[in-house]
Formats: sequence, structure tokens, C-alpha cells
Amino acid sequence: MKKSLKFYRGTILNPKSDTRCDFIADGVLVVSGAPGRAILEDVLAWDAAQKKYAKKIRAANTFDHRGSVFLPGFFDMHFHWVQDEVRTMPKDSLLEWLERYTFPTEARFSDPVYSKTRAHEFFKHLSRVGTFGGAVFSSIHECALSAAMKEAKGDFVIGNVLMTMNSPKDLTQTEDQAIGLAEKMTRRFGKRYAFTPRFAISTSPRVMKKGAVFANRARCFQQTHLSENHEEIAFTLKLYRGFPGFEKIKSYTEIYQKVGMLGARTLMAHGIHLSDAELKMLAKTRTAIVHCPTSNAPIAERGLGSGLFDFKKTERAGVRWALGSDIGGGPVLSMFDVMQSFVKQNQRAGKTGASCIKALYRATLAGAEILGVSKRTGNFKQGKDATFVVVPVPHRAGSKGTHQSAEALLSMIFEVGAKNRDAQDDLIQRSVFRGRVMVEEHS
Ligand SMILES: [Zn+2]
Repeated sequence: MKKSLKFYRGTILNPKSDTRCDFIADGVLVVSGAPGRAILEDVLAWDAAQKKYAKKIRAANTFDHRGSVFLPGFFDMHFHWVQDEVRTMPKDSLLEWLERYTFPTEARFSDPVYSKTRAHEFFKHLSRVGTFGGAVFSSIHECALSAAMKEAKGDFVIGNVLMTMNSPKDLTQTEDQAIGLAEKMTRRFGKRYAFTPRFAISTSPRVMKKGAVFANRARCFQQTHLSENHEEIAFTLKLYRGFPGFEKIKSYTEIYQKVGMLGARTLMAHGIHLSDAELKMLAKTRTAIVHCPTSNAPIAERGLGSGLFDFKKTERAGVRWALGSDIGGGPVLSMFDVMQSFVKQNQRAGKTGASCIKALYRATLAGAEILGVSKRTGNFKQGKDATFVVVPVPHRAGSKGTHQSAEALLSMIFEVGAKNRDAQDDLIQRSVFRGRVMVEEHS
């Protein structure tokens, strides 16, 4: 059977690493296969495509997006889909924000009807901002997790949080309930399920220990929070030093090590205030960190003011990391907001190396690599999923609209976003998931 091809013409940005991003000013994504299963047949310059596909390129199968840029779909490696409503709430302190706004919001997801409606809306929004992969926290409730599993479009691992202590009454499970539910969900969802102790403060060591055993056996991902701010770290250490077997722990990371949670399929959100010894532990076990710049940003920038993640120290230690929005700690769902915030915060602090190309790599391919799906998705390559977003090329007054490099072009797109953060969710004209158009241009 003859393959039917589609040709998407526009500027192509293709992230390869922290320092490399292919830039094709006038390029084509050649797509084959049925929508929903389509893959990239080729990625090349328009001139070359005209020769190579002379007999196949026609007006009817060519989508002209000149004046726009194609980027791969994003990976958001840490967010709480059940916290969509608290993104904009006042964030004076992490523990206070959790108690006052976040926990009551999550408690509403005990209602299956509410969970279904919200999941439908939330994951539609997520497709609209071009996020087609990542790691997700749900509430403690089975119905909310099931709703998210049904609605999520892309390469996501999702887990219900486990909360057995130091939590509000209506969000507290017994240890047996927590373990039982995690086991049941692992059986039901397999590798799409992520074992998700909320953080050491709220999940007892027994639950983490037991869960880590069956998550490892099922080869599921595990995710939690680590070392987000000083108040949380101090409280965690004090709490655990009172538990038998943990009296002599020196660090927060050691708690997760002791319960058996560190490993190549484990994601630690934040990891801002880690010692060299802790970074060493993470590197040795290949545990990944998810850096959430918009959530960690100063309170004046609508974050929780947790501090600046030291990406250089993390990389020197050999720890893998990727970007996440940490919705609702982060205020904006679009990964454009996360990328611009990463670049801007580091620039302001005088740290070099936080380029736009690096931000793009950490918001796409790096996430796919950590999730183990980079052979199939994460950037543009023959045989990979035809998953991408289409973004208009911004024009600076006086410029002729020509952009000389990937860095310059990305920097202009980020600038547009930084000026109006809440409008970034509308930055994308079109998002395409495995060849299926998920969102058409906004009117
Ligand atoms: Zn979080």
C-alpha cells in the first residue's frame, strides 16, 4: 500500500541536547500514518523536500505554516493536576499554602462526578498548551486517578498521593488503605502508574518501604518531593529522627534511600537545597530531579519563594534532571512560562549557561529520556511520533523577521511570554499529537 504523506512547512527547532538545537529556517515535517498513530517520515529543508518528494507534494497535503515555528510536544515532569484551582492563590509559605488552599481543593476530588468533569477540562487545557508527556500527582482518591488516566493524552505516568500522617482528617488514609490502593492501581494501570508518596512528612516509612518494593517489582515509576525549602527540611529531619531506624539520618535524601525509593525510575521534585553527599546518592542511584522554576520563584513572581535550583552543581554531580511546572505551586500551565522563568532567574542571579536551548531540551527530550520513551518521542527524528506544536514567530519592530539562530528565535518567543505570563497558554496556534490536531488556532 502507498503511504499517504502530509507536509508541514515552517521553521523547525529541534532540541538535541543542552547545547544543540537544529534550526531549519524554511523546513518541512513529513508525516505519515493515520491521525492518532502518525509518525515522522522525514525532517528536512523545504528545498531538499521539493526534490526528494517532487511527485508527492501537492497543495492538498501541504500545510503552510511559514511565519510559524514547529517545536516538539513538551514534557512536564512534575505537576499536580488536582491543584489547577490553587495556582493563583496567595503563596506566603509552602506549608501554610498547602493547609489553607491546596488540601481543601484536593478533598473535593473524592466526588467521582467532579473528578470526571475536572479531568476532562484539565487535560484538554494541557493538550492546548502542547504538553504531551510527563509525571503527574493526583489526589488520594481512586476516582480522581481513574479520571486522569482516562483523559491524559500522551506519555504520562500518574499516581494518587499517599497520605498517612500529618495530613488533614479528610485526606488521611490508614497505612493499609494507602498500600492496598497503590497495589490495586499498579495492577490496574501497570507502567502508567507511578507510586507517589506525597512527601516524607505525610507518608509513613512503612508505606514508602512496602510501596517501593512492589513498584520496583512492577517496574513502575516512583515520585515524591525532596528538599523544597528550609522549613520543610528541618521539620522532616526532626520528625524522622524520632522514628526507629532513622535516629541517625544526616539528610532528607537518606530517608528515601533507607525506604528503598531511590533508583533510575524515581523522580524527586525540587531538590533545591541538597548537600554534595545527597547529590552523590542521587547520581549513584540514577534518581532524577525535576526542577520547577516557576514554583520555586520569589513570591513576587507568584511562586513559593523556595530558592534557586543550582543546575550546574547538579550536572557536575552527574544527576539527571528535567523541567516541571509544579501546578499549582507554579502559576502557569504552559511550559513556555517554565522555560522563560528558568532562563530569567538564572540570568538575574548572574549564572551563565541557562540558555534558551538548554531550557527547551530540559522541557522536551530530557523528560522523554528520563521516562524511557526517547526512542519514540521527545524531539523530531524519522520514525518518532508526529507530536508537535506550532507557534507564531514574533517580530521585533525594525527586524525583517529573519532569525539567525535557534537561541535568538527562542529568546524572542520567551520574551513575548514573559511580558504577559497569563497569555502564554494561548501562545500555541496548533498542537498536534501523533498526527491528530488537538487544538486549532485560537480565534
Ligand atoms: Zn509538587
